[in-house]
Amino acid sequence: MKANCWYGKNDLRVEQVSDPEILNPRDAIIKITSTAICGSDLHLYDGFIPAMEKGDILGHEFMGEVVDVGHAVKNLKIGDRVVVPFPISCGACFFCRKHQYSLCENSNPNAVMAEKLWGHSPAGIFGYSHLVGGYAGGQAEYARVPFADVGPLKIANGFSDEQVLFLSDIFPTAYMAAEACDIQAGDTVAVWGCGPVGQLTIKSAYLLGAERVIAIDRVPERLRMAREQGGAHTLDYEEVDVYDALMNMTGGRGPDACIDAVGMEAHGHGIQYAYDHAKQAAMLETDRPIVLREAIMACRNGGTVSVPGVYGGFVDKFPIGSVMNRSLTIKTGQTHVHRYMQPLLEKVRNGEIDPSFIVTHQMRLEDAPAGYEMFKHKNDECIKVVLKP
Ligand SMILES: [Zn+2]
Ligand SMILES: [Zn+2]
Repeated sequence: MKANCWYGKNDLRVEQVSDPEILNPRDAIIKITSTAICGSDLHLYDGFIPAMEKGDILGHEFMGEVVDVGHAVKNLKIGDRVVVPFPISCGACFFCRKHQYSLCENSNPNAVMAEKLWGHSPAGIFGYSHLVGGYAGGQAEYARVPFADVGPLKIANGFSDEQVLFLSDIFPTAYMAAEACDIQAGDTVAVWGCGPVGQLTIKSAYLLGAERVIAIDRVPERLRMAREQGGAHTLDYEEVDVYDALMNMTGGRGPDACIDAVGMEAHGHGIQYAYDHAKQAAMLETDRPIVLREAIMACRNGGTVSVPGVYGGFVDKFPIGSVMNRSLTIKTGQTHVHRYMQPLLEKVRNGEIDPSFIVTHQMRLEDAPAGYEMFKHKNDECIKVVLKP
């Protein structure tokens, strides 16, 4: 089969590789019909996630048709159309029983590696380095899905792939980030980053009852989408001081909740950005926490800072004094996707949201490397790429 393989920083190759096979009675093999490039895939492309190996197949947002099942998979049959959640979860361990699926204890065979970096290991993830299992990803013609009796969500016909594909990751990720803010009537929620997750976070915040969402970015078409599709008020951080603008818009108190939908490769300007960029480049700091610091400083006393943005390791100048003295709550985590798939599918079904509005580009799997370049540099007003194997 063909697959999009990682060979190093800014080096991807679509190659012929061997087809996946059932290895375990709980596996299924999926013939992929649609697979997206995620913002977090760019962290792999940019070389910021350790433990990648040449030839690793990327991709963790995918859906398709079941073409083979192990004998223990009773809920799926050949021909079923499914969306696959990005964390791999057994469904029966301590964390899975608490519905904390991204913390599954049984799906990362390389847990020892993760424990060295993070103290404990999270669940395995498709196509996201050997730190989280080294599983082949879904930017391919076929994928092997472990614990297929637990993860994949069956989709009835009547939906386009683009309407349901993002149940695999970014819609639940956005929704969990907004849900973590415990939004009350009258609340103002500020969202940093108007990429795909940011756009769906804006929508989710309104679905959960926010009075007003303020979205922050610098890319004109992303700000436009946040306004026109999301109904957000927007701030261009190249034009205004974000802290001052947020205070002006909230009577000097600050937003009730602040969401960092940017993560480890934040852009910014001034001395702080230069500091983080230099330290990250010299490998003295793994992540650039510019947005995280700004979200913390802007959040109102007693408010919530929610972090769906991906961080990999360690940051400098984390304003813990601001967090402690002002009674802030920080909520973060890899998404417990399995928990959200069915309820969010219902929201798509009943017309509350149609996540397909974020798709700007459809490309062939063969063109994945070009898709990454375009998405990374935001060329051609690219916001979300869906690949068709
Ligand atoms: Zn993703
Ligand atoms: Zn588990």
